[in-house]
Amino acid sequence: AGGVDIAGITKRYGDATAVDDLTLQIRQGEFLSLLGPSGCGKTTTLRMIAGFEHPDEGDIRISGRSVLGEPPYKREVNTVFQAYALFPHMTVAENVAYGLQQRRTPKAEIRTRVAEALDLVQMRHLADRRPTQLSGGQQQRIALSRALVNRPAVLLLDEPLGALDRQLREEMQLELKLLQSRLGITFVFVTHDQGEALSMSDRIAIMRHGVVEQIADPDTIYSRP
Ligand code: ADP
Ligand code: ADP
Repeated sequence: AGGVDIAGITKRYGDATAVDDLTLQIRQGEFLSLLGPSGCGKTTTLRMIAGFEHPDEGDIRISGRSVLGEPPYKREVNTVFQAYALFPHMTVAENVAYGLQQRRTPKAEIRTRVAEALDLVQMRHLADRRPTQLSGGQQQRIALSRALVNRPAVLLLDEPLGALDRQLREEMQLELKLLQSRLGITFVFVTHDQGEALSMSDRIAIMRHGVVEQIADPDTIYSRP
């Protein structure tokens, strides 16, 4: 599970075409970055995989199954955004548990899974804090933990490190990469930062004007400026 097969998707907003007949195969377990300048359609592509937007044309398959008729929570996919969007009135553990509670997961299983998901990002010791008591980096780890708690096959990350300062950003790049290889989950990572894409990705899809212009591994892209 975890391959994403995007076949000729198009998304228009009025007269503007945000994504233009885009085709892309994302392999199970790879770290793939969508790289390109602001406005080239990266976020729109990610939102269509997640199910927050519906393409005007084309098809999206996740783990071999067409998902266009499915709402986000049924897609084996989870998303981490730049703005962490944690609930301020809930503790860290409650934030991570929230999605499972919505799905009426048994209480004992929620406890186990939340502990496991907090361990993945080394945040279990902060389970009873509130998000406002945490640093930006810690909050982003909790957002990551919340996205991993229901064991998605695919994790979508939309400039997740964009709000962090440079040192923390480099630290989190390493952590994300480690986590990805450990869990074997497919990561789709949106960034406009070439250095970030080069240092983290198995493959990079370079986007421009709503299409993928080139897709290759970092070495190939780096040696061909
Ligand atoms: P990126 O993530 O690469 O910066 P986006 O996918 O956010 O690009 O946007 C692609 C294009 O679609 C841009 O021109 C943007 O203005 C337009 N767009 C995105 N979302 C909307 C929307 N909800 N309504 C109208 N235009 C939009
Ligand atoms: P049901 O047959 O009970 O409608 P579904 O397959 O539709 O079950 O949904 C499974 C579970 O997901 C239900 O417990 C439902 O409450 C929960 N659920 C519904 N909407 C959402 C959502 N947006 N996010 C998370 N869980 C949801």
